[in-house]
Amino acid sequence: MESERGKRKMCGVGVAVVTGASRGIGRAIATMLAEHGYTVVSSCTRLGKVPEHGEAESFVRCDVACEEDRDALFASVRKRFGRLDLLVNNAGVAPLARTDILETGLESFERVLRINLYGTFFMCQAAAKEMLSYKQELGGGYTPRIVNISSISAYTASVNRPEYCISKAGVSMVTKLFAARLAQEGIPVFEVSPGIILTDMTAPVRDIYEEKIERGLTAIERFGRPEDVARMVLAAAGGLLDFSAGQVLHADGGFHLRRL
Ligand code: NAP
Repeated sequence: MESERGKRKMCGVGVAVVTGASRGIGRAIATMLAEHGYTVVSSCTRLGKVPEHGEAESFVRCDVACEEDRDALFASVRKRFGRLDLLVNNAGVAPLARTDILETGLESFERVLRINLYGTFFMCQAAAKEMLSYKQELGGGYTPRIVNISSISAYTASVNRPEYCISKAGVSMVTKLFAARLAQEGIPVFEVSPGIILTDMTAPVRDIYEEKIERGLTAIERFGRPEDVARMVLAAAGGLLDFSAGQVLHADGGFHLRRL
């Protein structure tokens, strides 16, 4: 009875899980999805005083690096809504300190990979299994999707944070792998690759990036905003890009362009 009542609460275009949604890019993604009719389950590790979007959003504590938390998240979505239409793997961390590659320590390496790469991989795996099971239950018309947030660091060498670059290069491959596996199952998987976005993550190096942007680092000469990334996620989630597998959407002001 409880779950039936919960399921009826699902409104709009579907149920979306957004990881790392308390701040920054994840916050903008959750907000935009809620504004466009999704029922959003937002997650992060430190539940605080983030204003939720009324009935359209609820927060769950989930450390993406922890198997128990991941399982509990998907179990709770099943119990409350009985469907999962979109997973956005956004949660990620930078190294606690930027350190030359010759000094990178195992502790930081493991921390960043556990959250950014293992977290994304196993969230994709768990969501894929759930989505395949929902496909059996819900039948035609149910088209779930997965969006992974990578970074320009997936293909750009920053020798003072190698663990982050390696984790994001891994996230790109995670997207390709799940896109390849799930294409025939009718589950599109996308990668959204942000450039330099103004958030807590980039706050400590804002001045350095500002100077680089002023000197023409990006084709569009401004910082990215979390909403720039959220719009790309919304585009991928909306179904217009489905004849693709592992498509990369660059939310980077043209950083990836080679220019002469
Ligand atoms: P942010 O402002 O630091 O926010 C990170 C979010 O992730 C927070 O909600 C944080 O909440 C959550 N989080 C951290 N560790 C987590 C864990 N173990 N499990 C679940 N949630 C966790 O970062 P951001 O700049 O918005 O970045 C979001 C994503 O975009 C990251 O994957 C990042 O690598 C990527 N990205 C960012 C930029 C940029 O310029 N900002 C560029 C390229 C890619 P709690 O602390 O409460 O857990």
